[in-house]
Parts: sequence; structure tokens; C-alpha cells
Amino acid sequence: EPSLRIRGLTKSFGGVRALDGVDLTVPMGQVHALLGHNGAGKSTLIKCLGGAYPPDAGTIEVGGASYTRLSPRESISAGVAIIFQTLSVVDALTVSENIFLGQEWTRYGTVNRRAQEEVAAGLLERVAASCSPRDRVGELSMGQRQLVEIAKALSRSASVLVLDEPTAALSGAESDALAERVEDLRAQGLAIVYVTHLLSEVERLADAVTVLRDGRVTHHSAVSGQSRRELVKAIVGETAGLPGD
Ligand code: ADP
Ligand code: MG
Ligand code: MG
Repeated sequence: EPSLRIRGLTKSFGGVRALDGVDLTVPMGQVHALLGHNGAGKSTLIKCLGGAYPPDAGTIEVGGASYTRLSPRESISAGVAIIFQTLSVVDALTVSENIFLGQEWTRYGTVNRRAQEEVAAGLLERVAASCSPRDRVGELSMGQRQLVEIAKALSRSASVLVLDEPTAALSGAESDALAERVEDLRAQGLAIVYVTHLLSEVERLADAVTVLRDGRVTHHSAVSGQSRRELVKAIVGETAGLPGD
């Protein structure tokens, strides 16, 4: 049973068909790379998944339920966590406060700060972050901020993690560290949708690839049997260069 199954997802804005019958299935423990030129529909797909837009048609199956439209709250409780390029962490708050922001996490009727920090420390360890629960997020590097967002997703028991061009604002070393974290999270059973323009990331991480163009799937392939390098060659061959490059 796949963690995420999107079928026939369709969404228009005025006369623009941003998504036109898109299918995308991600089993647990797999990284699915989502590629496409600017304007292909990647962000629209992610926003439908996050409940920010109601789709015109199609279904989203996640967390054991099937939705024709889902609210942002339903998306989170179904297990979807989306890390947008513009991170949602609040600079003025600590790492621990950010992780538990918006969650009613109380013990004996009051928020137990120390207990939260202990849980936060465990989550930070799980994503191999080097920051600590009491650090202010505004003082952290982009790479550490992103790990805080991922830790926040894990605190909500996310089973589907969506990363929108996660390395766009990272240094080479931070990008490499993030790739290792993605490999860990895959090994922990998360289903990961990974939006990228970079062949090197597809080759390193992808178990399957979907290419969108004008709201339609123009290429889909899975690693099974072939190597990641062969997967990348197939995409380049069929699409005459990687979309976005
Ligand atoms: P991508 O993320 O692949 O660059 P988008 O999903 O952002 O693509 O955009 C797909 C198409 O939908 C584009 O033509 C874009 O202009 C249009 N679009 C996206 N969001 C909106 C919106 N809120 N209002 C109007 N048009 C939109
Ligand atoms: Mg765009
Ligand atoms: Mg986009």
C-alpha cells in the first residue's frame, strides 16, 4: 500500500491549466524526484497536497484515506509535511519553540518547556542537526534551519515529506549533508517527494522520477532494475536535457 497516491489531479487558474490529470505514487521508503520547467505545475501540485488549493478534479490518497479536497489541517494530520523553499520557521523563536509551534503539547495542563526541549533534542539527533533546542533559529545557517523544519515534520509523525528544491539556498557541504539526511529518512520509511532541477541529486537520491510539463506528466520512470545513472540518462534522452537546466 503506497504512502501517497495522487490520481488525475487537475487544477486551473482562470484559463491556465496548471495541472491536467497528474498521477503520482510514492511508496514508503522511496524518494520520488519531481522535475519540470518553471511553470510546469510542481508548486501547484505541492500546494494541492498541502491543502492550500482545492483541486478541480482528482484524488489524493494519503494516511489511509482518499480526499478530493483536503484542508491544511487534514493534510498535516494525514501525515504530509511540506518544506517550502521559503522556510516557515520563525527567526525570533528557539529551535524547540519552532518544532512545537502550533501543537497543543502540554503536560499537567501547562506547556512543559524542559520536556519539550528533551523531545526536541531527540528529534534533532534523528536528523543529525548540530544546533541545540535552545538556539535561536535566526542565528542558524540555512542548512540547520532546514533540519529544524524536518525535525518539526517528524514531531508530527509525518509519513510523506515534500522537499521543494531543498538545496537551492545551501552551500555544497550543506547540500551533501542534506542528501545524507534524505537517505536516512528514506531508510526510516518516509515517502519523499523531492522537487529539484539538479541531475546530480536525481542520480544520488531518486528511486523514481516524474517530469511535468504544462501540467501534464511527460516522463515517468522508476529505478527498479536499472541503475540511478541509467535513470538519469533516460530522462535526459527523452526530454533533451533536464528541465530547468
Ligand atoms: P512550477 O512550480 O513548476 O514552476 P507552478 O505550479 O508555480 O509551476 O505554476 C504552474 C502554472 O500555474 C503557471 O502557468 C503559473 O503561472 C500558474 N499559477 C500558479 N499559481 C497560480 C495562482 N495562484 N494564480 C494564477 N496562476 C497560477
Ligand atoms: Mg515556479
Ligand atoms: Mg514552483
